[in-house]
Amino acid sequence: MSLITLALSKGRILEDSLPLLERLGMGPAGDIDRLLRVPSQDPNVHLVIIRPADVPTYVEHGAADLGIVGKDVLMEHGGSALYEPLDLDIACCRLSIAAVKGSPYADPGGWPGGRRVRVATKYPEITRHYFAQRGEQVEIIKLYGSMELAPLVGLADVIVDLVDTGNTLRANGLIETGIITRISSRVVVNKASMKMKHAALGDLLARIGSLRA
Ligand code: AMP
Repeated sequence: MSLITLALSKGRILEDSLPLLERLGMGPAGDIDRLLRVPSQDPNVHLVIIRPADVPTYVEHGAADLGIVGKDVLMEHGGSALYEPLDLDIACCRLSIAAVKGSPYADPGGWPGGRRVRVATKYPEITRHYFAQRGEQVEIIKLYGSMELAPLVGLADVIVDLVDTGNTLRANGLIETGIITRISSRVVVNKASMKMKHAALGDLLARIGSLRA
């Protein structure tokens, strides 16, 4: 039996992945708050718990055979170096545009003209592509967190960020003005691993798929 390394995205996706792994008999067999590399209850599977944006890189380079990662991260990462065989339908949310409630940028009739609209986001590639397709030239301001703050302090006119319940936007006086895409977590697989560990990975993917059904 080949040893399989599964990369998990820290944070909300990890929380939603753990019950799934437990049901598969692959839950962590170690302290996930301290260890970055944890054995699982299945002796053939090791878990690595890393930042979401690093999961595609680990899997692409074969440092992990497969991973669980948000579609937002995959879209921003780009390329087709990975197989994406399963939508897990967990950590579901949407990637949306939001503006300060009552501001000209919250007007459904369109943005005011005059200068380029400033968009704060953690997702510059998705954002650039989305607005370019609509013929809008925007100025992108890359941030690493707390996007909601940017329009409140005049750093940006609008934001592009993940929205789930909408509570964070509401609490900060922002309003969702458009949805770019729906997001859920996906299983991604290294292409070489898929060939070399075909039996073990095929079996694992079938088990994950059957849980979801
Ligand atoms: P909410 O207040 O429920 O709309 O959640 C919004 C906040 O949680 C924002 O800061 C988002 O970046 C973050 N968030 C929402 N859904 C997800 C998700 N599926 N994965 C990671 N972060 C998320």
